Amino acid sequence: MSKEINNTILYNPDEQLSMLYNRKVTCPVCEAVFNAKSIKKNSYRILKKDSDFFIRYSRISPYFYDVWVCNECGYASIKTDFENLSDYAADKIREKITPKWHKKNYPEVYDINIAIQRYKLSLLNYYTIGARESKKAMNYLKLAWMYRLKEDDKNELQFLNQALENLSTAYYNEPSPIYGMNKFTTMYLIGELKRRLDKSEDSLIWFSQIITSTMSPQKIKDLARTQKDLIKSEPSEKEPELENKSNKKDGGFFSKFH
Ligand SMILES: [Zn+2]
Repeated sequence: MSKEINNTILYNPDEQLSMLYNRKVTCPVCEAVFNAKSIKKNSYRILKKDSDFFIRYSRISPYFYDVWVCNECGYASIKTDFENLSDYAADKIREKITPKWHKKNYPEVYDINIAIQRYKLSLLNYYTIGARESKKAMNYLKLAWMYRLKEDDKNELQFLNQALENLSTAYYNEPSPIYGMNKFTTMYLIGELKRRLDKSEDSLIWFSQIITSTMSPQKIKDLARTQKDLIKSEPSEKEPELENKSNKKDGGFFSKFH
């Protein structure tokens, strides 16, 4: 399949190997010490940032090495969460994950398919320990991005949708910042995920809320304005329906909000 070939070409395995080092990590569940593959600083540069914060990198992708897996007990999570585990959560992993765990032989260098497997393992752990929706949302979002790299639209949209559902729940239930995002950045991301999922009307409501707020940072306002204009410039099948509801160009749905 040409898509597979593209992804193999995307990053050269030998070159990647030279950019990796082993970092010793102690598993908070079973106390095994293992080597987590990490990327040397300044190994890569940013090629492009997508409008939902996905970053395309040169030479190596940090996303491929974003999940740490303890091969002894099966505990896995996105590395920023790995060491912050409650006793309750560790018990859950010992009870539900470890008995079913089969050790895996990971190669020296990870590719996109291994990255996807590892993000799915992490997600399974998050569900097992009842992790916050914000964590699940970021995990789903990163999975969606991996499928975007593979140009697998169906899976990308499915995982973007899960990311959106969890992020929306997190927005209403968790204190800001959520994964380092302030309230307005989270609102922007919700709006942008809705836009990508063809929920244009909903998306416009979120973007407008950011644009009209006196509290939102200029940078986020600019992003929201750009994406709002993008929706407006796209020919939409829903537009004629909007026109019928209201003669105003913006449609009647804004009135629900203001
Ligand atoms: Zn372990």
